[in-house]
Amino acid sequence: MKNKNILYLLGSGRSGTTLLATVLNSTSSIHTSGELHQFYTYLKDRSTCSCGASINDCEYWSLILKDLNLSTKEIYTFEKKQNNEEFHRYIPFILLGKKPSKDYISSQENLFTSLTKNNDKNWILDSSKYIARFLLLNQIPSLNIKGIYVVRDVRGVINSFNKQVQTPKKPISTIFYYLLTNFFGQLICWLNKDVVKLKYEEFIENPQATIDQIYNKLLGYNHGAISLEDNFIIPHIIGGNRLKRNKTIKIKKDIAWKTSISRPKQVFYYLLCFPFMILNKYKI
Ligand SMILES: [Zn+2]
Repeated sequence: MKNKNILYLLGSGRSGTTLLATVLNSTSSIHTSGELHQFYTYLKDRSTCSCGASINDCEYWSLILKDLNLSTKEIYTFEKKQNNEEFHRYIPFILLGKKPSKDYISSQENLFTSLTKNNDKNWILDSSKYIARFLLLNQIPSLNIKGIYVVRDVRGVINSFNKQVQTPKKPISTIFYYLLTNFFGQLICWLNKDVVKLKYEEFIENPQATIDQIYNKLLGYNHGAISLEDNFIIPHIIGGNRLKRNKTIKIKKDIAWKTSISRPKQVFYYLLCFPFMILNKYKI
């Protein structure tokens, strides 16, 4: 049986993770599954996969569902357990030794066993970004989990959350969220040698270097050149942002915040997040 190898994306939302996950899916060893913390909620609500079909009818996910063969009761139990245990407020408790429940462990093990079995790549990419989920999965001995922590200039994140699309956030709540996700993301990155940190802006500038960094540092081998002219095909993902409704994505620079946020506000937001801005070498 194949090892259950998981690459886990950490960092704040709107940091280009859907794009990164899609580009990684085009490489030889990585299969992108989307935000797996939503898997059981998707099942409960019969939500739609990025391909447009309901998760129950999607050609990819229906294979997984057939494999898992879950009863309605199990779906409800697993969904509830997962949402409870992965809640942000438990992060400090998990860091201090709180363990995942039996139901949590078996539901995640079964999911990753099925995902691993149903594709020919060696690594499953989970773009959940939830810190508590990363810490809990990390405690399950049968899972081999490595992290990719993505940082982005807070003003790019604010600008993206400010667009009136799904789940808009006001600048101040974005800043709280940014400080929280980056505090723990950075902490995990310092404590865990199997986590690589990369910058959204550097990925957009030089995607090949980022892919090489992930392959060399986490997977332990080199990957050939990726084709940058291509539109990258979006796989069957759950969760993810509005980009996923397109069939393909292009790598494109998004620096709209430099013109759409006034200069005084740019400086103000920078100062509120200054430890991370300085640590990650962003200019004011
Ligand atoms: Zn699908």
